[in-house]
Amino acid sequence: MVHFVGAGPGAPDLITVRGQALLKEADIIIYAGSLVNKELLEAAPSHCRIYNSALMTLEEVVDVMIQGEKEEKKIVRLHTGDPCLYGAIREQMDRLEEEGISYEVCPGVSSFCGAAASLQAEYTLPGISQTVIITRMEGRTPVPEREKLRSLAAHQSTMVLFLSTGLLVQVREELLAGGLAPDTPCAICYKATWEDEKIVWGVLDELPELAERAGIRKTALIVVGKVLESEYELSRLYAADFTTEFRQGRKDEGQK
Ligand code: SAH
Repeated sequence: MVHFVGAGPGAPDLITVRGQALLKEADIIIYAGSLVNKELLEAAPSHCRIYNSALMTLEEVVDVMIQGEKEEKKIVRLHTGDPCLYGAIREQMDRLEEEGISYEVCPGVSSFCGAAASLQAEYTLPGISQTVIITRMEGRTPVPEREKLRSLAAHQSTMVLFLSTGLLVQVREELLAGGLAPDTPCAICYKATWEDEKIVWGVLDELPELAERAGIRKTALIVVGKVLESEYELSRLYAADFTTEFRQGRKDEGQK
């Protein structure tokens, strides 16, 4: 059995209780060495064999899994954040399927949630944006034409950009071309929840310069949108006149 486990965004105590229990029982751990906090590996038993997937190809990773399965070992594949985002788990699951090896996924706290916590931000504010677009600037990995940043920007929704810190000149160009105002609020969140976390606030027009001045070139998320400003409407859910399944509103007027 292979367990794909989300390691969380960085701080070692932001892995789930289930994920931690799986690490404690693992005979083999294959971790994404570029971003997973190595302190997490301290939970592993002393006999555990540990591999860094940053140095391996897909086939090498799968070979370790196949060999481990033959030896009836408990295998943990440790991915940064939550494995469902830019985790390249689908290709591993498909290979395991072919080999007849069973697997499970244990979710994790994605870095976009870690970043929101660090920014003390709410990505969905009434009257401002009720949608979060998680995407990336096209780099060596292509992005489908219909998902180009400029067309996504046209929604004026909150955007969280992964894997784009080295491409901020293009990010700015695309977002402006998509209709975002040059003074749209932005935040660059470097290593959210790690001890050396760094956060820079600014506006879209100065995005590349902000990163450069702060010396941020990788391992960051770019959050863009008016939710980072102070203007918004109060939520309907907690409004006094709003009736829900759990609470009777004081006045039924004005309800939808
Ligand atoms: N599955 C991961 C994302 C992997 S892609 C998740 O759910 O978070 C790798 C990219 O994630 C990095 O280039 C960076 O953009 C972002 N990232 C991962 N951890 C981060 C962190 N602690 N702070 C800021 N960005 C992070």
